[in-house]
Amino acid sequence: MLSVVIPSYNEENLIKNTAGTLKKVLTRADIDYELVFVNDGSSDNTQQRIEDLSDNDPKIRFVCFSRNFGKEAAIFAGLAAAKGECVAVMDCDLQHPPATLVEMYGEWRKGYEVVEGVKRSRGEESGAHRFSAGTFYRLMSKATGMDMSRASDFKLLDRKAVDALLSFPEYHVFFRALSSLVGFKKTSVDFDVAERTEGESKWSTASLIKYALNNIVEYSAFPLHIVTWAGVFTLIVSVFLGIETLVRYFLGNSAEGFTTVILLQLFTGSIIMIGIGILGFYLSKVYDEVKRRPRYIISKMN
Ligand code: UDP
Ligand code: MG
Repeated sequence: MLSVVIPSYNEENLIKNTAGTLKKVLTRADIDYELVFVNDGSSDNTQQRIEDLSDNDPKIRFVCFSRNFGKEAAIFAGLAAAKGECVAVMDCDLQHPPATLVEMYGEWRKGYEVVEGVKRSRGEESGAHRFSAGTFYRLMSKATGMDMSRASDFKLLDRKAVDALLSFPEYHVFFRALSSLVGFKKTSVDFDVAERTEGESKWSTASLIKYALNNIVEYSAFPLHIVTWAGVFTLIVSVFLGIETLVRYFLGNSAEGFTTVILLQLFTGSIIMIGIGILGFYLSKVYDEVKRRPRYIISKMN
C-alpha cells in the first residue's frame, strides 16, 4: 500500500479537490493507497473538511496538531502515522503533480527505495522569492555538500527509509536534507511545479530568510569556521599594520593618534560582535535540542 502524507495548513478550499484528484489518479493507476492529511493547526475549517471526507472513506486518515508546528513537523507526523510499505509526501495545493506520484510509485516497484521529485522549473514566483530561494539553495548546497537547488519535499520513500528517518532524534528536522542523508537506493523523477490552484503560498520573504538561516546553522558548522577565518585574516592584517606603526614610531613620524584608534576599535569591535553572534546562534540551536521537547503535539487522529 502507498501512503500519501499531505501537510495542510489553512487549506479548507483545497482538501476536497486534492483528495478527489488523488483518488481518481491512484484508482486509475490501480494503486492501493491511503491519504494521511496532517492538519498543522489550521485556524480555518481544514479539520472539518478532512473529517467530512474521512467519515465516509476509510482510505482517508488524518492527524490533527494542537497548534501550528510547521511543515517539517507535519511531514514527520505523517510519516509516523503512515501504514504503507511506501510513503509519499506531497503538498496539499497540487503543486506537486499527482501524475508524477504514479511515476514515482513505478520507480519504487522497480526497487528504488528513495524516489526524489526534482523540480524541472520553479513555476510562478515573485522576483524576491526567486532570489531568496536561489541564494538559500546555493548556500545550503555549499554548506551541506549536497545539491539542493532543485530539491523539493515531493518524495516517495520505502518503509526502510521512513523508519530510518523516524529514528533521527533531533528536534529540528529538515526533510529535504535528511532524506538525502539516510542513503538507500536512490533515483529521481523530474516534475514541473504547477501553479497553486487556490489561496496563497504561506511563505513570506522574511520567513524564507529565517528558514534558510536556521537550516544552514542546523546542518552545517561552516559559519563557525568563517569566524575563525575572519580572525586569521585580521591577525595577518594586524601584523603588517603593527610593523608599519612601529617603524613609523621609531622614524619619528607616527600615525595620527585618535583617527587610527577609532577606526581600529570600530573594526575589531564589529568583527568580535559578529563572531559572538554566530556562536550565540549555534548555542541557541543547541539549547533547543537539549530541551528534548516534542516535535509536535497531536490533539486528534484516526
Ligand atoms: N504547510 C504546513 N504548515 C505550515 C505551512 C505550510 O503544513 O506552517 C503546508 C501547506 O498547507 C502546503 C505545503 O505545506 O500543503 C506547502 O505550502 P505552500 O504552498 O504555502 O508553500 P510553497 O508551495 O510556496 O513552498
Ligand atoms: Mg505551494
